[in-house]
Amino acid sequence: MDRFDLVKESFERKEVPAETPPGKPSEYFGERVFDRLKMPRYLDEDTFRSLLSCIEGGKPLDRKTADAVARGMKVWALEHGVTHVTHWFQPLTEGTAEKHDSLIDYDGKGSVIETFDGSMLAQQEPDASSFPSGGLRATFEARGYTAWDPTSPVFILDDTLCIPTVFISYTGEALDYKTPLKKALKAVNDAAVPVCRLFDPSVSKVYSYLGWEQEYFLVDESLYAARTDLMITGRTLFGHNSSKNQQLDDHYFGAIPSRVAAFMRDLEIAGHRLGIPLKTRHNEVAPNQFELAPIYGETNLANDQNQLVMNLMAKIARKHNFVVLLHEKPFEGVNGSGKHNNWSLGTDTGVQLLAPGKDARGNLQFITFFVNVLAAVQKHNALLKASIASATNAHRLGANEAPPAIVSAFLGQTMTQVLRKLLEVPSDTPIEIAGKKGKSVGLVEIPEIFVDNTDRNRTSPFAFTGNRFEFRAVGSCANCAGAMTTLNAAMADQLIGFKADVDKELAKGKDTAVAIMDVLKPIIRSVIDVVCFDGNGYSEEWKQEAARRGLDVETNVPRIFCEFTKPAAVEMFLRTGVFTQKELEARNEVKWEIYIKKVQIESRVMVRMALNHIIPAALEYKSRLLQEVSLARGVFGSTDGCATEMFILEKIGKYVEEVRIKAYAMKEARKAANAIEDDYQRALAYHEIAESLSALRRPIDKLEELVDNRLWPLPKYRELLFIS
Ligand code: ADP
Ligand code: MG
Repeated sequence: MDRFDLVKESFERKEVPAETPPGKPSEYFGERVFDRLKMPRYLDEDTFRSLLSCIEGGKPLDRKTADAVARGMKVWALEHGVTHVTHWFQPLTEGTAEKHDSLIDYDGKGSVIETFDGSMLAQQEPDASSFPSGGLRATFEARGYTAWDPTSPVFILDDTLCIPTVFISYTGEALDYKTPLKKALKAVNDAAVPVCRLFDPSVSKVYSYLGWEQEYFLVDESLYAARTDLMITGRTLFGHNSSKNQQLDDHYFGAIPSRVAAFMRDLEIAGHRLGIPLKTRHNEVAPNQFELAPIYGETNLANDQNQLVMNLMAKIARKHNFVVLLHEKPFEGVNGSGKHNNWSLGTDTGVQLLAPGKDARGNLQFITFFVNVLAAVQKHNALLKASIASATNAHRLGANEAPPAIVSAFLGQTMTQVLRKLLEVPSDTPIEIAGKKGKSVGLVEIPEIFVDNTDRNRTSPFAFTGNRFEFRAVGSCANCAGAMTTLNAAMADQLIGFKADVDKELAKGKDTAVAIMDVLKPIIRSVIDVVCFDGNGYSEEWKQEAARRGLDVETNVPRIFCEFTKPAAVEMFLRTGVFTQKELEARNEVKWEIYIKKVQIESRVMVRMALNHIIPAALEYKSRLLQEVSLARGVFGSTDGCATEMFILEKIGKYVEEVRIKAYAMKEARKAANAIEDDYQRALAYHEIAESLSALRRPIDKLEELVDNRLWPLPKYRELLFIS
């Protein structure tokens, strides 16, 4: 089939109807999750209570309880036709890992029975030698263990019981995303509770919340299969811009194409069955780009659910003859995809700590947490950028439609004014929510309208949106845990320091509110002119201004990763108990390795496609033109009438030559880079190769514009982006 057949096939593809749901979402929500609602039906009271204290109190799961839980789970699983079980974990590759074991075992009488006990639930030892560890597992001790995370409920995917687990090495180091995330969530709880108790002694737990917004593209599977670059690297390595792309903004929030709507519907039904509270779906800015978001939830669970949704998306898209693209920048010239991480903290007493309070005390608590977030982000702005940096996200950051590669915080006019006002008034001034009535002089006021109507700034990587911060720089295919671990750990560390400072002021006999405000004021003074920025984050002036302010402006990804092992980061992670130095070093090895491999693969695919797709197509056209010219000479005795042919021939010759030279130069650069022993130095060399990919792309895109459309072998942007 040539390109035209593929386009026709895609265009004429019939919609696959979505599954008919078994009732209202409220009737099947969570039916495939072994959650608290079901537990009492399958567990005896003692077991249920022990499990709850394990989930809520962080107590370890003893073997007797594990066995009893497993017995109940088995009954539930068999009722749902489960035949297999797997520990489901999140290694340092992107995506999840699972190894299925059948439930069957010999019964000792020549038959088999279904078995599932506490040991299968609680701990397993998968053959882990192929997962990245950054040298943490030398081959002689290549063992890795997975252990159930009871705070994340067990679920059923098709015929398999999936047990969310952490993944650690024989010597106890984390080999996954979940372990450090859980440690960071514990750290932020431990640090935030004492601060909350300054306001309300009854607080005993602080939760971190995450609401992710997942952006993605859908491409018809036939066209996808014809683009080796998309298939192998997740993005198009070349492709001339379509004459129309997103400039009319007619896709954003537009009517959802029916084939896409059917996909979304199936995804929602599957998600709801798995207890994932999917809520929002809409078209995004770029053609064929979409978004979905759930109702926010506790960060560890919300992150597991995001991982699960990414799996579901890939699977369900195929039913609808689509392929889902989670790469941050599948197409040049149109928007890329991010995963905005809406983040907040809340107490077990139901208080949202990043939303204005009900009274002056509540407002002071809000300001306390708000200002400490800003301080944490300021102090660790480079590290936060490192937490979202990757070979793929690098294509999206800093471009003119995505968060810039500088981590600043957007506050909006209201909060900026509130902070400035706080610096002017005495420390015992109450912070009020101003209603519609006139303002009373001397008070610091948060206008009532602010509470549900904050201004927006799409150019900020970290924006306050009324009751939460939105970390927009996170990449669409990333595991949110990378960003959430760093953010929560940084916040925990900041709160520890803050509480110690407040205690010193209290020891001087100050009133609590005054002590708090006296500690907050110098922080406000520092952040307001450094990390806080409400202007245009895309502008050239901001880059210079940010550098003057001392914010990190590095864009070289391998170098950005070095932030993780700088003293400020190491100390912060050690104090909060989130990472050891060894783990941080190992993780950087993994990051560099993944970076190298991604660029290496892209570069290989690009060179090969340049040599065996692009150049042959261009030469074919060239040969046709030459035949025409030679015919003209034969008939007319000269080539005088062939000005257009000659013009194109010259250009094709020039671009083909450029492609050849750059392709071979890239091959050589790879060879030289591969010979470098040190991972970091090799990653730096690969960064240069990554930069040179666009130089090779340019003449190829020029050729696409010139070569006879009928001879071009690869689906073009206008086909990839407009057929759905
Ligand atoms: P946007 O207008 O930013 O695109 P969406 O509705 O697409 O908003 O997504 C907003 C996300 O933020 C949702 O997942 C929502 O549940 C989440 N969210 C709302 N309030 C909070 C909060 N306090 N903490 C964390 N996430 C929140
Ligand atoms: Mg949204």
